[in-house]
Amino acid sequence: MSDPLPRIPLAGVVGSPVAHSRSPVLHGHWLHRYGIQGHYVPLDIAEDRLETALRLLPDLGLVGVNVTIPYKERVLALADLVSDRASLIGAANTLIFRPDGKIHADNTDGYGFIENLRQTVPDWKPSAGPATVLGAGGAARAVVASLLDVGVPEIRVTNRTRPRAEMLRENFGNRVQVYDWVKAGNLLDDSALLVNTTSLGMTGKAEMRVPLDGLHPACVVSDLVYAPLETRLLRIARERGCRTVDGLGMLLHQAVPGFERWFGRRPDVDAALREAVLA
Ligand code: NAP
Repeated sequence: MSDPLPRIPLAGVVGSPVAHSRSPVLHGHWLHRYGIQGHYVPLDIAEDRLETALRLLPDLGLVGVNVTIPYKERVLALADLVSDRASLIGAANTLIFRPDGKIHADNTDGYGFIENLRQTVPDWKPSAGPATVLGAGGAARAVVASLLDVGVPEIRVTNRTRPRAEMLRENFGNRVQVYDWVKAGNLLDDSALLVNTTSLGMTGKAEMRVPLDGLHPACVVSDLVYAPLETRLLRIARERGCRTVDGLGMLLHQAVPGFERWFGRRPDVDAALREAVLA
């Protein structure tokens, strides 16, 4: 008897709403490029059906999913196994449905942030000096965890709601220092890296108004916002001679570990992928 046909791997992105997600285009581009028989679909799941749906998805042939707003925190409690980094960050963006039926939750946002930074500014060194992080939400937690992990000596966190920044210091230790939001501009003089993790500057949101007079050309400036691709922060930084890193690259890189796990091939993040996702 001939061997049974292999199962076609399916993956997707779980959220609500999920129609805005670029992940189906991104994974679809890789599947097509590498000639992999597989599919990646958006899954808009209502809040009260989340747990039932997640338990059912492996039976339908799904090998895993990405998780987006508003479920990144909630899925931690629903997973059977949680990676150290997801646990530290307090959120997951990647779920792996294991053959033994267990759901493994991971967070690849910090990985995506660092890989994008390294790809865009290859000579960036963690030891170059302090990093300033604007914001203290979920994305900030991933960025701070990854910067600590690669050895940045000091991370200055400033957030409109100071207690949220204090929480980061409590969780991540004393390499994290907290500063008042109104004094954010004062932190730039000797920062080697500036990262905006707030939603300020995003299309439809308020503009980022942190004073940038102290920004010097040796500072690498990164914005997690990717709509628009060049935010006001990145434009001003570029005009001052700083190297800039946009948020789209992070989105592309954070998808790599999930794709590799689900579809069996480590995909490349390159100009063709960027164009496909921007189209
Ligand atoms: P979040 O948990 O809701 O945090 C939002 C952050 O923005 C908080 O620090 C919040 O400060 C701050 N903020 C919002 N409105 C503000 C205002 N008017 N003035 C000052 N601060 C304000 O969201 P998140 O998940 O961390 O995401 C933050 C941003 O990162 C979003 O734009 C998201 O799209 C982007 N992101 C990008 C990627 C990527 O791959 N490029 C990945 C993840 C997230 P308070 O604490 O004071 O409210």
